[in-house]
Amino acid sequence: MKRIGILTSGGDAPGMNAAIRAVTRRAIDKGLEVFGINYGYAGLVAGDIFPLNSEDVSDRIQRGGTFLYSARYPEFANVEGQLKGIEQLKKFGIDALVVIGGDGSYHGALRLTEHGYNTIGLPGTIDNDIPFTDFTIGFDTAVSTAVDAIDKLHDTASSHERTFVVEVMGRGAGDVALWAGVAGGAQKIIVPERDFDIKEIAQEVKEGREQGNKNMIIVLAEGVMHAEDFKKELDKYGDFDTRATVLGHVQRGGSPTVKDRVLASKMGAHAVDLLLDGKGGLAVGIENNKITSHDILDLFDSKHKPDLSLYDLNESLSR
Ligand code: ADP
Repeated sequence: MKRIGILTSGGDAPGMNAAIRAVTRRAIDKGLEVFGINYGYAGLVAGDIFPLNSEDVSDRIQRGGTFLYSARYPEFANVEGQLKGIEQLKKFGIDALVVIGGDGSYHGALRLTEHGYNTIGLPGTIDNDIPFTDFTIGFDTAVSTAVDAIDKLHDTASSHERTFVVEVMGRGAGDVALWAGVAGGAQKIIVPERDFDIKEIAQEVKEGREQGNKNMIIVLAEGVMHAEDFKKELDKYGDFDTRATVLGHVQRGGSPTVKDRVLASKMGAHAVDLLLDGKGGLAVGIENNKITSHDILDLFDSKHKPDLSLYDLNESLSR
């Protein structure tokens, strides 16, 4: 193996640049050549491929987004799309690949490995919804952004004695809501993994207000429902001066936190080491603070499990 490629695919996440830098620098350190591929699998098929040297990745570690851009390219699920991608890999003399993305991107990585091009997947998503990893690249930054916004909402909530329903990202997973809820001192956290009763929540809000709690923050995972709909449901049981706030895409941006930069650096270097060992079709993770890897196939049979002890903790701390 002499030459590896790297691409980012699916939703962008802060820390992807740090991962690209780590892959590039580790590969160069080990005597390999590196090629960047723009726009994920779309760019692979289009041949939007160029050499990456050490300076190309300097001054990138602190920047959000991905300088290799990302794109959705559903055609890569078809064999014809994959074969077009392989043609480009041959043309550029690329022997193996690192793909940074989510679940969908891992499918592409597995297909490339099956076609004889060892490919390693790195978990790049703010949602933290990938099995066999405690954290994904971008999650810590997204939670920090959400907590920063919640802190600000506390100020205005207490000034006007309002109740805020704050919708955070996470797709079908409650991780962002759980972490942002605990760190932001939420009164209540609503996640897809736990049932809730709006009437009971209304009662809690009512009692909280009667006891003098002037800033009620309910953190709602987007996978449950929209904040505006939640507010409408809550309003049926009383006038809590409720406001719905959707944090939205700000959670996807910003300079990555220290934790995300270090995680991306460790994972990027490990991906190159796995390729040098002749391995492919693996997804890198971090479990109990150790960098690990698992067959991508096993990931598809598993379900991500959020840390629901945070839910119980918050229930106890918000009384
Ligand atoms: P994420 O990687 O964040 O889950 P997507 O689900 O949009 O994001 O997938 C990203 C890209 O991965 C898709 O646009 C497509 O190019 C590729 N992809 C998705 N599913 C498959 C599949 N079944 N086989 C091959 N490639 C896939």
